[in-house]
Amino acid sequence: MKLRGISAACFIFVCLLGSYGALGRGKQVPLASTCSSPKRIAVIGAGAAGTSFAYSLGRSKVQDDVSITILEASLRVGGRAMAWEYNGISVELGASIFLKENQILYNATREFNLTFEAERSVRGGRPPWGVWAGDGFAFQASKSSSATLARMFWRYGLAPVKTARLARKAADDFAHGAYGTTTDIKRVQDLVRSWGLAEVVGEPADKFFKERDIKELFTDEIIQAATRVNYAQDINAIDSLGALICMAAANGETVRVEGGNQQIFEHFVAKSGAALRLNSSVLEVQRVQGHADSAYKVTTADGQTSTFDAVVIAVPWKHEPFILLENFAKVPRPIEYVHLHVTLIANLTASPAYFGTTDPPVQILTKPHPNTPFLSLSWLSDNTIKIFSLQRMSDKVLAEIFKDFSPANVFRHSWDSYPLLKPDYLSKESYVQLDEGAWHLNGFEGVFSTMESQAAVGRAVARVAELWVEEQRETSDCYGSRSLG
Ligand SMILES: Cc1cc2nc3c(=O)[nH]c(=O)nc-3n(C[C@H](O)[C@H](O)[C@H](O)COP(=O)(O)OP(=O)(O)OC[C@H]3O[C@@H](n4cnc5c(N)ncnc54)[C@H](O)[C@@H]3O)c2cc1C
Repeated sequence: MKLRGISAACFIFVCLLGSYGALGRGKQVPLASTCSSPKRIAVIGAGAAGTSFAYSLGRSKVQDDVSITILEASLRVGGRAMAWEYNGISVELGASIFLKENQILYNATREFNLTFEAERSVRGGRPPWGVWAGDGFAFQASKSSSATLARMFWRYGLAPVKTARLARKAADDFAHGAYGTTTDIKRVQDLVRSWGLAEVVGEPADKFFKERDIKELFTDEIIQAATRVNYAQDINAIDSLGALICMAAANGETVRVEGGNQQIFEHFVAKSGAALRLNSSVLEVQRVQGHADSAYKVTTADGQTSTFDAVVIAVPWKHEPFILLENFAKVPRPIEYVHLHVTLIANLTASPAYFGTTDPPVQILTKPHPNTPFLSLSWLSDNTIKIFSLQRMSDKVLAEIFKDFSPANVFRHSWDSYPLLKPDYLSKESYVQLDEGAWHLNGFEGVFSTMESQAAVGRAVARVAELWVEEQRETSDCYGSRSLG
Protein backbone atom coordinates (compact mmCIF):
# COMPACT_ATOMS: atom_id res chain seq x y z
CA MET A 1 0.00 0.00 0.00
CA LYS A 2 1.20 3.46 -0.87
CA LEU A 3 -0.08 6.68 0.63
CA ARG A 4 0.74 9.78 -1.28
CA GLY A 5 -0.99 13.09 -0.85
CA ILE A 6 0.63 16.15 -2.12
CA SER A 7 2.79 17.49 -4.94
CA ALA A 8 4.40 19.98 -7.27
CA ALA A 9 4.70 22.23 -10.35
CA CYS A 10 4.84 25.86 -11.55
CA PHE A 11 2.35 28.71 -11.53
CA ILE A 12 1.81 29.89 -15.07
CA PHE A 13 0.43 33.37 -15.06
CA VAL A 14 -1.75 33.41 -18.15
CA CYS A 15 -2.82 36.98 -18.76
CA LEU A 16 -5.14 37.09 -21.72
CA LEU A 17 -7.17 39.99 -20.43
CA GLY A 18 -9.50 41.41 -22.98
CA SER A 19 -9.75 38.40 -25.26
CA TYR A 20 -13.38 39.02 -25.88
CA GLY A 21 -13.97 37.18 -29.13
CA ALA A 22 -17.60 36.25 -29.06
CA LEU A 23 -18.64 39.14 -26.87
CA GLY A 24 -18.48 42.08 -29.20
CA ARG A 25 -15.43 43.55 -27.45
CA GLY A 26 -17.17 43.76 -24.09
CA LYS A 27 -19.88 46.17 -25.22
CA GLN A 28 -23.47 45.50 -24.28
CA VAL A 29 -24.85 43.00 -26.76
CA PRO A 30 -28.50 43.00 -27.85
CA LEU A 31 -30.64 40.16 -26.57
CA ALA A 32 -30.41 36.93 -28.48
CA SER A 33 -32.91 36.61 -31.28
CA THR A 34 -34.54 33.32 -32.14
CA CYS A 35 -32.14 33.27 -35.10
CA SER A 36 -29.08 33.65 -32.92
CA SER A 37 -26.50 31.50 -34.62
CA PRO A 38 -24.18 30.25 -33.36
CA LYS A 39 -25.57 29.76 -29.86
CA ARG A 40 -23.67 31.93 -27.42
CA ILE A 41 -22.65 29.97 -24.34
CA ALA A 42 -21.09 31.50 -21.23
CA VAL A 43 -18.93 29.32 -19.02
CA ILE A 44 -18.33 30.89 -15.61
CA GLY A 45 -15.13 29.57 -14.04
CA ALA A 46 -11.96 28.20 -15.68
CA GLY A 47 -11.15 25.27 -13.39
CA ALA A 48 -11.26 21.56 -14.23
CA ALA A 49 -15.05 21.57 -14.66
CA GLY A 50 -15.53 24.69 -16.78
CA THR A 51 -12.56 24.08 -19.07
CA SER A 52 -13.51 20.42 -19.56
CA PHE A 53 -17.03 21.52 -20.52
CA ALA A 54 -15.67 24.07 -23.02
CA TYR A 55 -13.20 21.57 -24.47
CA SER A 56 -15.85 18.85 -24.91
CA LEU A 57 -18.50 21.10 -26.41
CA GLY A 58 -15.98 23.03 -28.51
CA ARG A 59 -14.93 19.77 -30.16
CA SER A 60 -18.37 18.17 -30.41
CA LYS A 61 -20.43 17.82 -33.55
CA VAL A 62 -22.13 21.16 -32.79
CA GLN A 63 -18.80 22.98 -32.60
CA ASP A 64 -19.72 25.23 -35.53
CA ASP A 65 -23.04 26.07 -33.94
CA VAL A 66 -21.67 27.36 -30.65
CA SER A 67 -19.64 30.34 -29.60
CA ILE A 68 -18.22 29.76 -26.12
CA THR A 69 -16.93 32.46 -23.80
CA ILE A 70 -15.21 31.56 -20.54
CA LEU A 71 -15.47 34.18 -17.79
CA GLU A 72 -12.86 33.68 -15.08
CA ALA A 73 -12.60 35.83 -11.96
CA SER A 74 -8.86 35.42 -11.46
CA LEU A 75 -5.92 36.13 -13.75
CA ARG A 76 -5.22 32.48 -14.49
CA VAL A 77 -6.74 29.22 -15.65
CA GLY A 78 -6.82 26.13 -13.42
CA GLY A 79 -8.81 27.10 -10.31
CA ARG A 80 -7.76 24.81 -7.49
CA ALA A 81 -5.05 23.23 -9.63
CA MET A 82 -2.27 25.72 -8.98
CA ALA A 83 1.45 25.08 -8.94
CA TRP A 84 4.01 27.35 -7.35
CA GLU A 85 7.75 27.60 -7.92
CA TYR A 86 9.34 27.34 -4.50
CA ASN A 87 12.82 26.54 -3.24
CA GLY A 88 13.86 25.38 -6.71
CA ILE A 89 10.98 22.97 -7.22
CA SER A 90 7.46 23.19 -8.51
CA VAL A 91 4.93 22.64 -5.73
CA GLU A 92 1.20 22.06 -6.12
CA LEU A 93 -0.66 24.24 -3.65
CA GLY A 94 -3.93 22.55 -4.53
CA ALA A 95 -4.80 19.43 -6.50
CA SER A 96 -1.59 17.47 -6.73
CA ILE A 97 -2.24 13.96 -7.97
CA PHE A 98 -4.64 11.93 -10.06
CA LEU A 99 -5.00 8.26 -10.72
CA LYS A 100 -3.39 6.91 -13.85
CA GLU A 101 -6.74 5.31 -14.67
CA ASN A 102 -8.47 8.73 -14.69
CA GLN A 103 -9.16 8.74 -18.41
CA ILE A 104 -9.91 12.41 -18.95
CA LEU A 105 -6.81 13.78 -17.24
CA TYR A 106 -4.50 10.96 -18.26
CA ASN A 107 -5.49 11.06 -21.93
CA ALA A 108 -5.33 14.84 -21.99
CA THR A 109 -1.79 14.79 -20.56
CA ARG A 110 -0.74 12.43 -23.34
CA GLU A 111 -2.63 14.27 -26.06
CA PHE A 112 -1.15 17.65 -25.11
CA ASN A 113 2.38 16.21 -24.91
CA LEU A 114 2.71 17.08 -21.26
CA THR A 115 5.10 15.06 -19.13
CA PHE A 116 4.32 13.04 -16.05
CA GLU A 117 6.59 14.02 -13.20
CA ALA A 118 9.10 11.46 -12.04
CA GLU A 119 8.80 10.32 -8.42
CA ARG A 120 10.84 12.64 -6.22
CA SER A 121 13.38 11.06 -3.97
CA VAL A 122 14.28 12.28 -0.53
CA ARG A 123 17.70 11.43 0.86
CA GLY A 124 18.31 8.81 3.49
CA GLY A 125 16.81 5.50 4.44
CA ARG A 126 13.67 7.02 5.87
CA PRO A 127 10.28 5.29 5.93
CA PRO A 128 8.13 6.54 3.02
CA TRP A 129 5.15 7.31 5.24
CA GLY A 130 3.87 6.98 8.77
CA VAL A 131 0.84 7.85 10.87
CA TRP A 132 1.59 10.23 13.72
CA ALA A 133 -0.71 9.72 16.70
CA GLY A 134 0.31 12.80 18.71
CA ASP A 135 2.81 11.06 20.97
CA GLY A 136 4.42 8.57 18.63
CA PHE A 137 3.86 6.80 15.31
CA ALA A 138 0.86 4.45 15.23
CA PHE A 139 2.24 2.89 12.05
CA GLN A 140 5.28 3.36 9.86
CA ALA A 141 5.73 1.91 6.40
CA SER A 142 8.96 0.21 5.58
CA LYS A 143 11.23 1.07 2.65
CA SER A 144 10.42 -2.31 1.20
CA SER A 145 6.80 -2.66 0.11
CA SER A 146 6.69 -6.38 0.95
CA ALA A 147 7.85 -5.59 4.49
CA THR A 148 5.13 -2.92 4.72
CA LEU A 149 2.52 -5.45 3.60
CA ALA A 150 3.72 -7.96 6.17
CA ARG A 151 3.66 -5.31 8.89
CA MET A 152 0.15 -4.32 7.85
CA PHE A 153 -1.08 -7.89 7.83
CA TRP A 154 0.32 -8.41 11.31
CA ARG A 155 -1.37 -5.27 12.68
CA TYR A 156 -4.58 -5.05 10.66
CA GLY A 157 -5.22 -8.57 9.39
CA LEU A 158 -7.11 -8.66 6.10
CA ALA A 159 -8.54 -5.14 6.48
CA PRO A 160 -6.13 -3.56 3.92
CA VAL A 161 -7.06 -6.16 1.31
CA LYS A 162 -10.80 -5.91 1.96
CA THR A 163 -10.68 -2.11 1.91
CA ALA A 164 -8.65 -2.11 -1.30
CA ARG A 165 -11.34 -4.28 -2.90
CA LEU A 166 -14.12 -1.92 -1.85
CA ALA A 167 -12.16 1.10 -3.08
CA ARG A 168 -11.35 -0.69 -6.36
CA LYS A 169 -15.02 -1.43 -6.98
CA ALA A 170 -16.04 2.20 -6.33
CA ALA A 171 -13.31 3.42 -8.71
CA ASP A 172 -14.35 0.89 -11.38
CA ASP A 173 -18.03 1.81 -11.05
CA PHE A 174 -17.13 5.47 -11.36
CA ALA A 175 -15.09 4.77 -14.49
CA HIS A 176 -17.85 2.66 -15.99
CA GLY A 177 -20.48 5.36 -15.43
CA ALA A 178 -18.60 8.60 -15.74
CA TYR A 179 -17.09 7.77 -19.11
CA GLY A 180 -20.44 6.59 -20.46
CA THR A 181 -22.88 8.63 -22.48
CA THR A 182 -25.77 9.26 -20.14
CA THR A 183 -27.56 12.59 -20.54
CA ASP A 184 -30.21 12.09 -17.87
CA ILE A 185 -28.46 14.28 -15.32
CA LYS A 186 -30.75 16.99 -14.10
CA ARG A 187 -29.67 16.50 -10.48
CA VAL A 188 -26.49 15.44 -8.67
CA GLN A 189 -28.51 12.43 -7.52
CA ASP A 190 -28.87 11.39 -11.20
CA LEU A 191 -25.10 11.58 -11.68
CA VAL A 192 -24.49 9.45 -8.59
CA ARG A 193 -27.00 6.86 -9.78
CA SER A 194 -25.83 6.71 -13.36
CA TRP A 195 -22.20 6.58 -12.26
CA GLY A 196 -23.00 3.49 -10.18
CA LEU A 197 -22.13 5.07 -6.85
CA ALA A 198 -25.49 5.08 -5.06
CA GLU A 199 -24.74 2.02 -2.95
CA VAL A 200 -21.55 3.32 -1.39
CA VAL A 201 -22.58 6.86 -0.57
CA GLY A 202 -24.57 8.32 2.31
CA GLU A 203 -23.14 6.71 5.45
CA PRO A 204 -20.55 7.98 7.93
CA ALA A 205 -17.34 6.28 6.81
CA ASP A 206 -16.55 4.68 10.19
CA LYS A 207 -19.97 3.00 10.24
CA PHE A 208 -19.67 1.96 6.59
CA PHE A 209 -16.36 0.14 7.14
CA LYS A 210 -17.51 -1.41 10.42
CA GLU A 211 -20.57 -2.87 8.67
CA ARG A 212 -18.25 -4.39 6.10
CA ASP A 213 -16.18 -6.04 8.76
CA ILE A 214 -13.09 -3.88 8.35
CA LYS A 215 -10.98 -3.99 11.51
CA GLU A 216 -11.57 -0.76 13.43
CA LEU A 217 -7.87 -0.21 14.11
CA PHE A 218 -7.26 -0.02 10.35
CA THR A 219 -10.18 2.38 9.83
CA ASP A 220 -9.00 4.52 12.73
CA GLU A 221 -5.33 4.66 11.75
CA ILE A 222 -4.96 4.17 8.03
CA ILE A 223 -8.26 5.07 6.37
CA GLN A 224 -8.61 8.07 8.66
CA ALA A 225 -5.05 9.21 7.87
CA ALA A 226 -6.06 9.18 4.19
CA THR A 227 -9.31 11.12 4.76
CA ARG A 228 -7.42 13.71 6.82
CA VAL A 229 -4.68 14.31 4.23
CA ASN A 230 -7.02 14.29 1.25
CA TYR A 231 -10.17 15.95 2.61
CA ALA A 232 -9.15 17.35 6.03
CA GLN A 233 -11.94 15.34 7.63
CA ASP A 234 -12.05 12.70 10.33
CA ILE A 235 -13.48 9.26 9.75
CA ASN A 236 -16.63 9.75 11.82
CA ALA A 237 -17.62 12.88 9.90
CA ILE A 238 -16.77 12.12 6.29
CA ASP A 239 -19.08 10.29 3.89
CA SER A 240 -18.27 6.68 3.00
CA LEU A 241 -17.69 7.43 -0.68
CA GLY A 242 -15.25 10.25 0.16
CA ALA A 243 -13.25 7.75 2.22
CA LEU A 244 -13.33 5.14 -0.57
CA ILE A 245 -12.00 7.71 -3.05
CA CYS A 246 -9.11 8.43 -0.66
CA MET A 247 -8.36 4.71 -0.42
CA ALA A 248 -8.56 4.29 -4.21
CA ALA A 249 -5.84 6.96 -4.47
CA ALA A 250 -3.83 5.34 -1.67
CA ASN A 251 -3.87 1.95 -3.38
CA GLY A 252 -3.67 3.05 -6.99
CA GLU A 253 -0.96 4.39 -9.22
CA THR A 254 -1.03 8.17 -9.05
CA VAL A 255 0.59 10.71 -11.35
CA ARG A 256 1.01 14.45 -11.72
CA VAL A 257 1.99 16.73 -14.54
CA GLU A 258 5.49 18.14 -14.51
CA GLY A 259 5.25 21.90 -14.21
CA GLY A 260 1.71 21.80 -12.82
CA ASN A 261 -1.59 20.01 -13.35
CA GLN A 262 -3.22 23.30 -14.37
CA GLN A 263 -1.53 22.95 -17.77
CA ILE A 264 -4.17 20.37 -18.72
CA PHE A 265 -6.87 22.98 -18.18
CA GLU A 266 -4.91 25.66 -20.05
CA HIS A 267 -4.76 23.27 -23.00
CA PHE A 268 -8.49 22.54 -22.68
CA VAL A 269 -9.14 26.27 -23.10
CA ALA A 270 -6.71 26.65 -25.97
CA LYS A 271 -8.17 23.67 -27.86
CA SER A 272 -11.81 24.51 -27.16
CA GLY A 273 -12.00 27.47 -29.51
CA ALA A 274 -13.54 29.44 -26.65
CA ALA A 275 -12.86 33.10 -25.96
CA LEU A 276 -11.31 33.56 -22.54
CA ARG A 277 -12.02 36.61 -20.38
CA LEU A 278 -9.77 36.65 -17.33
CA ASN A 279 -10.25 39.08 -14.44
CA SER A 280 -14.00 38.81 -15.07
CA SER A 281 -15.77 38.03 -11.85
CA VAL A 282 -19.44 37.33 -12.52
CA LEU A 283 -21.75 39.03 -10.05
CA GLU A 284 -25.14 38.36 -11.51
CA VAL A 285 -26.90 36.20 -14.09
CA GLN A 286 -30.40 37.14 -15.06
CA ARG A 287 -32.70 34.93 -17.04
CA VAL A 288 -34.60 37.20 -19.39
CA GLN A 289 -38.26 36.47 -18.93
CA GLY A 290 -40.66 36.26 -21.80
CA HIS A 291 -37.92 35.61 -24.32
CA ALA A 292 -38.73 32.93 -26.86
CA ASP A 293 -35.37 31.19 -26.56
CA SER A 294 -33.56 31.13 -23.27
CA ALA A 295 -31.39 34.20 -22.83
CA TYR A 296 -29.14 35.13 -19.95
CA LYS A 297 -27.73 38.52 -19.09
CA VAL A 298 -24.39 38.08 -17.38
CA THR A 299 -22.95 41.00 -15.40
CA THR A 300 -19.31 41.10 -14.31
CA ALA A 301 -17.65 43.12 -11.54
CA ASP A 302 -16.38 45.70 -14.04
CA GLY A 303 -19.99 46.59 -14.84
CA GLN A 304 -20.21 44.93 -18.26
CA THR A 305 -23.38 43.08 -19.15
CA SER A 306 -23.38 40.55 -21.99
CA THR A 307 -26.15 38.30 -23.21
CA PHE A 308 -25.88 34.59 -23.87
CA ASP A 309 -28.22 31.86 -25.03
CA ALA A 310 -27.00 29.44 -22.37
CA VAL A 311 -24.90 29.61 -19.24
CA VAL A 312 -22.74 27.05 -17.47
CA ILE A 313 -21.80 27.91 -13.90
CA ALA A 314 -18.58 26.08 -13.00
CA VAL A 315 -17.79 27.63 -9.62
CA PRO A 316 -18.12 26.23 -6.11
CA TRP A 317 -21.35 27.47 -4.53
CA LYS A 318 -20.24 28.39 -1.04
CA HIS A 319 -22.88 30.69 0.30
CA GLU A 320 -26.01 32.37 -0.84
CA PRO A 321 -26.15 34.39 -2.99
CA PHE A 322 -22.70 33.58 -4.33
CA ILE A 323 -23.59 34.87 -7.76
CA LEU A 324 -27.00 36.50 -7.86
CA LEU A 325 -29.24 34.37 -10.05
CA GLU A 326 -32.46 36.03 -11.11
CA ASN A 327 -35.54 34.28 -12.50
CA PHE A 328 -33.95 30.83 -12.47
CA ALA A 329 -36.25 27.84 -12.03
CA LYS A 330 -33.70 26.23 -9.66
CA VAL A 331 -30.69 27.53 -7.79
CA PRO A 332 -27.61 25.63 -6.56
CA ARG A 333 -27.52 24.41 -2.98
CA PRO A 334 -24.82 26.15 -0.93
CA ILE A 335 -22.06 23.80 0.22
CA GLU A 336 -19.79 24.26 3.23
CA TYR A 337 -16.09 24.21 2.25
CA VAL A 338 -13.09 23.33 4.40
CA HIS A 339 -10.75 26.29 4.82
CA LEU A 340 -7.31 24.73 4.48
CA HIS A 341 -3.90 26.23 5.25
CA VAL A 342 -0.97 25.18 3.09
CA THR A 343 2.47 25.99 4.52
CA LEU A 344 5.75 25.54 2.66
CA ILE A 345 9.06 25.69 4.47
CA ALA A 346 12.46 25.87 2.80
CA ASN A 347 16.03 25.31 3.86
CA LEU A 348 15.46 23.11 6.85
CA THR A 349 18.34 20.78 7.35
CA ALA A 350 18.15 19.40 10.87
CA SER A 351 15.72 16.58 11.49
CA PRO A 352 12.88 17.78 13.74
CA ALA A 353 13.27 16.46 17.27
CA TYR A 354 9.49 16.80 17.57
CA PHE A 355 8.90 13.29 16.22
CA GLY A 356 11.37 11.67 18.61
CA THR A 357 13.46 10.14 15.82
CA THR A 358 16.27 11.29 13.59
CA ASP A 359 14.64 9.54 10.63
CA PRO A 360 10.97 10.52 10.52
CA PRO A 361 8.87 9.28 7.61
CA VAL A 362 8.99 11.33 4.42
CA GLN A 363 5.22 11.78 4.52
CA ILE A 364 3.71 12.14 7.97
CA LEU A 365 -0.03 11.52 8.12
CA THR A 366 -2.05 11.90 11.29
CA LYS A 367 -4.62 10.51 13.67
CA PRO A 368 -6.64 13.23 15.38
CA HIS A 369 -4.92 14.37 18.57
CA PRO A 370 -5.39 17.68 20.43
CA ASN A 371 -1.63 18.33 20.43
CA THR A 372 -1.12 17.78 16.71
CA PRO A 373 -1.46 21.11 14.89
CA PHE A 374 -1.36 19.69 11.34
CA LEU A 375 -3.16 17.17 9.14
CA SER A 376 -0.07 16.13 7.22
CA LEU A 377 3.57 17.12 6.89
CA SER A 378 5.68 15.98 3.96
CA TRP A 379 9.19 16.42 2.65
CA LEU A 380 8.91 17.33 -1.05
CA SER A 381 12.68 17.46 -1.37
CA ASP A 382 15.57 17.18 1.07
CA ASN A 383 14.91 20.68 2.35
CA THR A 384 11.37 21.59 1.29
CA ILE A 385 8.39 20.73 3.48
CA LYS A 386 4.67 21.06 2.84
CA ILE A 387 2.13 21.11 5.65
CA PHE A 388 -1.66 20.95 5.50
CA SER A 389 -3.52 22.23 8.54
CA LEU A 390 -6.92 23.52 9.58
CA GLN A 391 -5.40 26.39 11.58
CA ARG A 392 -2.69 28.76 10.37
CA MET A 393 0.73 27.34 11.29
CA SER A 394 2.13 30.26 13.28
CA ASP A 395 5.88 30.91 13.54
CA LYS A 396 5.68 29.85 17.18
CA VAL A 397 4.13 26.47 16.32
CA LEU A 398 6.62 25.92 13.50
CA ALA A 399 9.51 26.72 15.84
CA GLU A 400 8.24 24.02 18.22
CA ILE A 401 8.50 21.44 15.44
CA PHE A 402 11.67 22.58 13.64
CA LYS A 403 14.58 23.83 15.69
CA ASP A 404 16.35 25.47 12.72
CA PHE A 405 13.20 27.13 11.44
CA SER A 406 13.42 30.71 10.13
CA PRO A 407 10.26 32.79 9.47
CA ALA A 408 11.94 34.14 6.33
CA ASN A 409 11.76 30.68 4.76
CA VAL A 410 8.01 30.18 5.04
CA PHE A 411 5.35 30.55 2.36
CA ARG A 412 1.69 30.37 3.36
CA HIS A 413 -1.44 30.01 1.28
CA SER A 414 -4.97 29.25 2.40
CA TRP A 415 -8.15 28.55 0.52
CA ASP A 416 -11.57 26.92 0.52
CA SER A 417 -10.20 23.62 -0.59
CA TYR A 418 -13.05 21.14 -0.92
CA PRO A 419 -16.48 20.62 0.62
CA LEU A 420 -17.15 18.96 3.94
CA LEU A 421 -18.26 15.61 2.53
CA LYS A 422 -21.33 15.06 4.65
CA PRO A 423 -23.12 11.70 4.66
CA ASP A 424 -26.55 13.36 4.37
CA TYR A 425 -25.62 15.54 1.39
CA LEU A 426 -27.79 13.65 -1.08
CA SER A 427 -30.85 13.64 1.17
CA LYS A 428 -31.84 16.99 -0.38
CA GLU A 429 -32.11 17.74 -4.08
CA SER A 430 -29.04 19.31 -5.63
CA TYR A 431 -29.47 20.50 -9.19
CA VAL A 432 -27.21 20.26 -12.22
CA GLN A 433 -29.80 21.71 -14.59
CA LEU A 434 -30.98 25.05 -13.23
CA ASP A 435 -33.18 26.10 -16.11
CA GLU A 436 -33.56 25.79 -19.88
CA GLY A 437 -29.96 26.20 -21.13
CA ALA A 438 -28.48 26.72 -17.64
CA TRP A 439 -26.35 24.27 -15.68
CA HIS A 440 -24.24 24.20 -12.52
CA LEU A 441 -21.23 21.86 -12.39
CA ASN A 442 -20.13 22.00 -8.75
CA GLY A 443 -23.02 20.38 -6.90
CA PHE A 444 -21.25 17.05 -7.44
CA GLU A 445 -18.37 18.27 -5.27
CA GLY A 446 -20.59 17.67 -2.23
CA VAL A 447 -20.28 13.93 -3.03
CA PHE A 448 -16.53 14.06 -3.57
CA SER A 449 -14.17 16.56 -5.09
CA THR A 450 -11.39 15.70 -7.52
CA MET A 451 -10.09 17.16 -10.76
CA GLU A 452 -11.21 14.06 -12.68
CA SER A 453 -14.76 13.95 -11.31
CA GLN A 454 -15.21 17.67 -11.95
CA ALA A 455 -13.82 17.27 -15.47
CA ALA A 456 -16.23 14.34 -15.91
CA VAL A 457 -19.19 16.48 -14.81
CA GLY A 458 -18.06 19.11 -17.33
CA ARG A 459 -17.91 16.52 -20.07
CA ALA A 460 -21.30 15.00 -19.18
CA VAL A 461 -22.99 18.40 -19.18
CA ALA A 462 -21.34 19.22 -22.52
CA ARG A 463 -23.21 16.21 -23.96
CA VAL A 464 -26.46 17.59 -22.59
CA ALA A 465 -25.65 21.03 -24.00
CA GLU A 466 -24.88 19.45 -27.35
CA LEU A 467 -28.37 17.93 -27.46
CA TRP A 468 -29.81 21.28 -26.40
CA VAL A 469 -28.04 23.04 -29.27
CA GLU A 470 -29.29 20.41 -31.72
CA GLU A 471 -32.81 20.81 -30.41
CA GLN A 472 -32.57 24.57 -30.79
CA ARG A 473 -31.35 24.09 -34.32
CA GLU A 474 -34.34 21.95 -35.18
CA THR A 475 -36.91 24.23 -33.58
CA SER A 476 -35.57 27.69 -34.41
CA ASP A 477 -37.01 29.52 -37.45
CA CYS A 478 -33.70 30.42 -39.05
CA TYR A 479 -32.18 26.96 -38.65
CA GLY A 480 -35.46 25.56 -40.00
CA SER A 481 -35.36 27.76 -43.07
CA ARG A 482 -31.68 26.91 -43.54
CA SER A 483 -32.41 23.23 -43.68
CA LEU A 484 -35.42 23.77 -45.92
CA GLY A 485 -33.38 25.97 -48.22
C1 LIG B 1 -5.19 21.70 -1.20
C2 LIG B 1 -6.00 20.91 -2.19
C3 LIG B 1 -5.61 19.63 -2.51
C4 LIG B 1 -6.33 18.90 -3.45
N1 LIG B 1 -5.85 17.69 -3.83
C5 LIG B 1 -6.39 17.08 -4.90
C6 LIG B 1 -5.72 16.01 -5.52
O1 LIG B 1 -4.61 15.61 -5.13
N2 LIG B 1 -6.31 15.42 -6.60
C7 LIG B 1 -7.50 15.88 -7.11
O2 LIG B 1 -7.98 15.33 -8.12
N3 LIG B 1 -8.16 16.92 -6.54
C8 LIG B 1 -7.62 17.54 -5.46
N4 LIG B 1 -8.22 18.65 -4.95
C9 LIG B 1 -9.58 19.01 -5.39
C10 LIG B 1 -9.57 19.66 -6.79
O3 LIG B 1 -8.69 20.76 -6.75
C11 LIG B 1 -10.97 20.15 -7.16
O4 LIG B 1 -11.90 19.10 -7.04
C12 LIG B 1 -11.04 20.64 -8.61
O5 LIG B 1 -9.87 21.32 -8.99
C13 LIG B 1 -12.25 21.53 -8.74
O6 LIG B 1 -12.33 22.03 -10.05
P1 LIG B 1 -13.55 23.01 -10.43
O7 LIG B 1 -13.36 23.44 -11.81
O8 LIG B 1 -14.84 22.34 -10.10
O9 LIG B 1 -13.45 24.23 -9.42
P2 LIG B 1 -12.27 25.30 -9.31
O10 LIG B 1 -10.98 24.68 -9.62
O11 LIG B 1 -12.44 25.96 -7.99
O12 LIG B 1 -12.59 26.35 -10.47
C14 LIG B 1 -13.55 27.36 -10.31
C15 LIG B 1 -13.05 28.61 -11.03
O13 LIG B 1 -14.09 29.59 -10.97
C16 LIG B 1 -13.52 30.84 -10.72
N5 LIG B 1 -14.57 31.69 -10.13
C17 LIG B 1 -15.05 31.66 -8.87
N6 LIG B 1 -16.03 32.57 -8.72
C18 LIG B 1 -16.17 33.17 -9.92
C19 LIG B 1 -17.03 34.20 -10.42
N7 LIG B 1 -17.94 34.78 -9.64
N8 LIG B 1 -16.90 34.59 -11.71
C20 LIG B 1 -15.98 34.00 -12.52
N9 LIG B 1 -15.15 33.02 -12.10
C21 LIG B 1 -15.25 32.61 -10.83
C22 LIG B 1 -12.36 30.55 -9.79
O14 LIG B 1 -11.40 31.59 -9.83
C23 LIG B 1 -11.83 29.24 -10.36
O15 LIG B 1 -10.85 29.45 -11.33
C24 LIG B 1 -7.52 19.43 -4.03
C25 LIG B 1 -7.92 20.72 -3.70
C26 LIG B 1 -7.16 21.47 -2.81
C27 LIG B 1 -7.54 22.90 -2.54
